[in-house]
Parts: sequence; C-alpha cells; structure tokens
Amino acid sequence: MLIDTHLHLDAAEFDHDRAAVLERARLAGVGGFVVPAVDRAGFAGVLQLAETAPGVFPALGIHPLRVDAAAEADLAALDDLLGQGGCVAVGEIGLDHYAPEFDAARQQAFFIAQLELARRHALPVVLHARRAQDAVLAALRRTKVVGGIVHAFNGSLQQAGAFIALGFKLGFGGAMTFPGSRRIRRLAGELPLEAVVLETDAPDMPPVWRRGGRNEPANMRRYAETLAGLRGLSLDEVIAATSVNACNILGLAGTAKAFPGKDADGGDGMADRDGGTLFYR
Ligand SMILES: [Zn+2]
Repeated sequence: MLIDTHLHLDAAEFDHDRAAVLERARLAGVGGFVVPAVDRAGFAGVLQLAETAPGVFPALGIHPLRVDAAAEADLAALDDLLGQGGCVAVGEIGLDHYAPEFDAARQQAFFIAQLELARRHALPVVLHARRAQDAVLAALRRTKVVGGIVHAFNGSLQQAGAFIALGFKLGFGGAMTFPGSRRIRRLAGELPLEAVVLETDAPDMPPVWRRGGRNEPANMRRYAETLAGLRGLSLDEVIAATSVNACNILGLAGTAKAFPGKDADGGDGMADRDGGTLFYR
C-alpha cells in the first residue's frame, strides 16, 4: 500500500470531486494520505477531512509563504490544537527564499516558533525548504525536533546527508518524472532507500504526463514505478520500503483507524529545465 506523504487534499481545486479523487487513489493502491495545513484558516478543514475520510492523517502548521498573512495568535491556536492530539506532524513549516519579496525575518520567526511547538508536543515536522536548505538545517540544529520529512526535496547530496543525520526522510514526487530534473532523479536513485518517501503535493507539482494540469494522489503509483526504475528495484520493493519509511517517521503504524483491515507494510523541484512552477505548496 502506498502512502502519499504530502498532499493538499483540502485545497479548493478538489472541492468539486474530492471523493472521486480519493477513490481513484485507492484504486491505484494508495491507502494513506498525509494532509498538511498551510495556514490557520485551513486547520479546521484539514482536521475534518481526517475525521471523515479513512486513511487521511492531519498535520497542522503555517507555511512560510503564508506567514505574511499570519498573526502571532495563530501560533497559540496551533498550540491548542496540537495539544488535543490526533495530528501526526507539525507542518507545513519551513523557509522559502525563492519567492520574490519574501520576508526572511518573519519566515524565520514563525519557523522557529513552530519548531519549538513540535519539540514541546514531541511531534515530527513536515518541512518546506526552498532555496533555504542551509538556513533550515541551521534552525534544526538549534531547535532539536524528533525528525520529519523534507517535502519535495531539492537540495544537494551533501544537504540530503545532513537532513538524514538529523533524523529526516526526503520526499520525492512529480519533479522526479521530468527527464530534465537530472539532479533530483540522481538523488532519488542514489540516496539510502530508508531515507526516501513518496509524495504528490497535489494539486501542485504535476508530473510530466500532467504538465500544467492538476496533480492528484492517484499519480503515486507511477511515481513508485519511476523510483523503481531509477533504483533498479521492483515496484513491490519500492512500495514496501517507502511505506515503512513513512509509517516509521510519522508514527502511522499504530493507527488502526487509518488502515481498516490492512497492514502498513505492505522546486525548484519542478524541472531544472522543464518549466518550473514559481509557487507550490
Ligand atoms: Zn505542501
């Protein structure tokens, strides 16, 4: 069973057919869906999805590209909700120094505050790190958390090693399907398999076969096939390994509600050349 470790199922792009999107994903073998919020306005929707849709796991956080519109009171609200239990991670949090006119100081303040919440609640984090890998690493060294996932990893081999040493898994998805994304394809193929998880970031970061369109979690199966090809492994080996990695880092294995009758075993990314997207969540 595949686990999509990062998708924005609560996004408006899915409002007209969310149930069908989930059904297509399940038919493609995807049984777990980790849905991170991006701002306080989205917290309730993410939690509600997790309550109503089997296999959906919530994470709550304030995204670096949403901190301009965020208030300090949002951090207190986040703290309260994390204290109520049920979230698998704090996220999506991090730093994004790619977007024009970003406020680095404000991003840093919200990032550090949320790392401290993750530490206090003993939760892993779901990280967004774009053109800011070293700054994110520096923050993680100062504010220790239990680990987590670097979503849509697009750093160097050396930076990958540094994240892994801090207890992180690295997320790969649509970017890996573009032949021009040679650096990301090489990383996906060569990093230790136990450090790799799969994700779609749907509806953002569509694969090469949906370029410019809406991404959805059913694409996970072809991502697993892509990764199997890059690593010279069977599809089953990739599905089993990446799912175990996701369960381990997010503590999903013990969540019986999530997998009824099933066993859990079981930036730049977008293309260096193939027309990247300026914004993704
Ligand atoms: Zn995201």
